[in-house]
Amino acid sequence: MAKPIERKLSKKAIARYVESGGKHCPYCGSRGIWGVGSAAIGAGVSAQETKCTDCGRSWDDILKLSGIYERHPG
Ligand SMILES: [Zn+2]
Repeated sequence: MAKPIERKLSKKAIARYVESGGKHCPYCGSRGIWGVGSAAIGAGVSAQETKCTDCGRSWDDILKLSGIYERHPG
């Protein structure tokens, strides 16, 4: 193990993660992150469990409804 992984994220680290659109693991910076599942937590707001395949940490992304993609039958 090269660097010890932060146990708790700073507000700055979280802000950086949100600004980047949630593309990199907020703990180790890896791009190997993926959403596991999601749950509604309020009107227009949901939480998605996200996992990093490199450091094994998981966290919940808070997602706000900003629009829809229409699905076309067929
Ligand atoms: Zn990671």
